[in-house]
Amino acid sequence: MNYPITGHTRLGCLLGTPIAHSISPMMYNESFRLLGLDCIYLCFDTAQAELEKIVDGLKEMNVYGFNLTMPDKERILPYLDELSPAARMIGAVNTVKNENGRLVGHNTDGIGYLRSVRDSGYDITSGPMTLLGAGGAASSIAIQAALDGAPTLHIINRKGRSWSNAQRLADTINQNTSCRADVTDLADEAAVKSCVSESLLLTNATSIGMAPNTEGSPIADPSILQPPLLVSDIIYNPRQTRLLAQAAANGCPTFNGMYMLLYQGEAAFRIWTGQDMPVEEIRRQFFLS
Ligand code: NDP
Repeated sequence: MNYPITGHTRLGCLLGTPIAHSISPMMYNESFRLLGLDCIYLCFDTAQAELEKIVDGLKEMNVYGFNLTMPDKERILPYLDELSPAARMIGAVNTVKNENGRLVGHNTDGIGYLRSVRDSGYDITSGPMTLLGAGGAASSIAIQAALDGAPTLHIINRKGRSWSNAQRLADTINQNTSCRADVTDLADEAAVKSCVSESLLLTNATSIGMAPNTEGSPIADPSILQPPLLVSDIIYNPRQTRLLAQAAANGCPTFNGMYMLLYQGEAAFRIWTGQDMPVEEIRRQFFLS
């Protein structure tokens, strides 16, 4: 693959840590090449850096935009000029567009997940949804699902670090959208069963089941997973988590987090370039192995 760099080439990048494993440079650089766009995308590990100085530098260099990963998704907020409505409600940004020196923050994680839901043939407006987790990714999914018309959202988390965020999310959704959101303790098995039984879509946005701890499942009693419940996991390593294996064994349709990763990138690409990313080609090259 040849990426010609000229005197006009515009730069974009990923900030955060750790980032060396990121698939984003391959995904975006190949898309630029396929579409003949004079742009390039690099990764910068910002573990030791002052974010404000980096942002000032990127602005001075007239980048087209950048992505952020943890811990910078929230730290970036004071340095932006404007937020999309979803990013404001989520309170975190993963994509920034440089609009003639004005930095506009977006959050494409939820957009990516909801696109993968549509891909699986499910209409988010068709029934209640249960979301496991209330961390960063769960926040994006909860807000986007509510904005896209989910009628009811049960947010389930343990009474841990993210419990107060679960309550903030439910309040934000109830105050700003037509979705009705509530919060349940993961340890309350009867309440979890009631939420899941009523739902048509279950989403695991906790890190339970992620490699290397692949034996874990966020659902203590897998018998509550019954068709027609669509069970999804945003974890993509492993491709089939224990939760998805349990759901599939009971006959539920399932999908994993691989396409959320692809589609959040697709959404960022459209924000920066105004063009459609060649998704099928990128999927074939980087997401099928
Ligand atoms: P966070 O750390 O922000 O959130 C993790 C969530 O999992 C919290 O709700 C946390 O609860 C909960 N949790 C973690 N361990 C346990 C446990 N043992 N028991 C109960 N709850 C637990 O992480 P992210 O939101 O950034 O990521 C979550 C997962 O999503 C990761 O596996 C990540 O790889 C995946 N992901 C996938 C993406 C994709 O594109 N497919 C994008 C982003 C993330 P608490 O905080 O209260 O402990």
